[in-house]
Amino acid sequence: MFKKILVANRGEIALRIQRACRELGIKAVMVYSEADRDAKYVKLADEAVCIGPAPSGLSYLNMPALISAAEVTDAEAIHPGYGFLAENADFAERVEKSGFTFIGPTPENIRIMGDKVSAKQAMIKAGVPCVPGSDGELPDDPALIKRIAKAVGYPVIIKASGGGGGRGMRVVHTEAALVNAVQMTKAEAAAAFGNPAVYMEKYLQNPRHVEIQVIADTFKNAVYLGERDCSMQRRHQKVIEEAPAPGIPRKLIERIGERCVTACKKIGYRGAGTFEFLYENGEFYFIEMNTRVQVEHPVSELITGVDIVRTQIMVAAGEKLPFTQRQVEFKGHAIECRINAEDAYKFTPSPGRITTWHAPGGPGVRVDSHVYNNYFVPPHYDSMIGKIITYGDTRDQAIARMRTALLETVVEGISTNIALHQDLMVDAKFLEGGTNIHYLEEWLTRRNPTKR
Ligand code: ADP
Repeated sequence: MFKKILVANRGEIALRIQRACRELGIKAVMVYSEADRDAKYVKLADEAVCIGPAPSGLSYLNMPALISAAEVTDAEAIHPGYGFLAENADFAERVEKSGFTFIGPTPENIRIMGDKVSAKQAMIKAGVPCVPGSDGELPDDPALIKRIAKAVGYPVIIKASGGGGGRGMRVVHTEAALVNAVQMTKAEAAAAFGNPAVYMEKYLQNPRHVEIQVIADTFKNAVYLGERDCSMQRRHQKVIEEAPAPGIPRKLIERIGERCVTACKKIGYRGAGTFEFLYENGEFYFIEMNTRVQVEHPVSELITGVDIVRTQIMVAAGEKLPFTQRQVEFKGHAIECRINAEDAYKFTPSPGRITTWHAPGGPGVRVDSHVYNNYFVPPHYDSMIGKIITYGDTRDQAIARMRTALLETVVEGISTNIALHQDLMVDAKFLEGGTNIHYLEEWLTRRNPTKR
């Protein structure tokens, strides 16, 4: 097992990894930008290294600074968390070339999965069902593009091959709008992701977002840890996640879970990963794979009892998966609300000083957050300040506990989206379960037709 790991991230996930290291008796080196100097997980760290000024390009995305931080502290491995460099194949490669273990898949796997066109091709080959669409990247010829769209059937969605974070996508309903939409998406993709390649998919009208968590070791063992329903989204960004996905027959989950496991074995996947699917009319359609731990991993941890971050570290250290598929039991229900420093209904970011922070507690309540009284939320990074996750024997109990937890939570000094979560936790359709990916946006429009 490793003696020391460098955590190349910040905020709640940095703290989450630090906790896993402590539990395993591994020293964790925390890195920080000048904006995160005072964070408690930095102050309480075994060791901490400043890697640069506040802008992430100069700090959390600064590969040489991160690698030299690992060198000067004698860390053996680097955990990238999520976001920042977590899915950067070049970083993974540089980490390994510098003699450290990258806690994640091989650079090659990250590269294949990071490009959505090659990811889809790999998945089709591995027998994972995909959204029907273009056979790879779209050509330049307008007549050809039109022909492809006709074959796929309108509406279609144009997606950037290098896209991520819900950006670089455009829905097209008519042939008249098609060529222009492709050109615009290409231009945006080139500017935002440095890669103008785009592809086409059938635009599914009312799907749910259901994803499968997997974890694999280097001995070709892989298991799936069930599914998560992440359909409650705004601007393609997840707001609430839960496990299991309400109303989907277990048999279907088992079937798709096994497909994912087979795909992992075929591509030689190692570490934690997520296969994201759209689910419509009883069918799963692969959209992309995330080759890292995800924000919403705690809901899977709560229903399986598997510590995903701990297991990531163990398999990266060359250990075998400590459980088989048959030993993974799914029990109860878990829900996660992402707490963001933003106006609950206008969604304007609200960085600044948190004058009061009171976290909820009690049975079945987990809070993953790095904030505390007098913590300053820096304006430079993502607005998520933590996650409240509740567990219950049933979905109803998990929701009831979430209502209580949200009521107990006190955040003063900045605005948060807690009021939005409170409203959603009593919404009749949400309580029924199984809402589609458009539900939250439609709900927001109904609530306030002029503001979105
Ligand atoms: P990103 O990497 O930016 O998150 P994804 O490919 O995972 O992009 O898609 C993000 C979201 O966009 C999905 O959860 C879904 O809401 C929507 N979406 C993507 N592809 C389609 C599609 N073919 N039909 C309908 N909605 C889609």
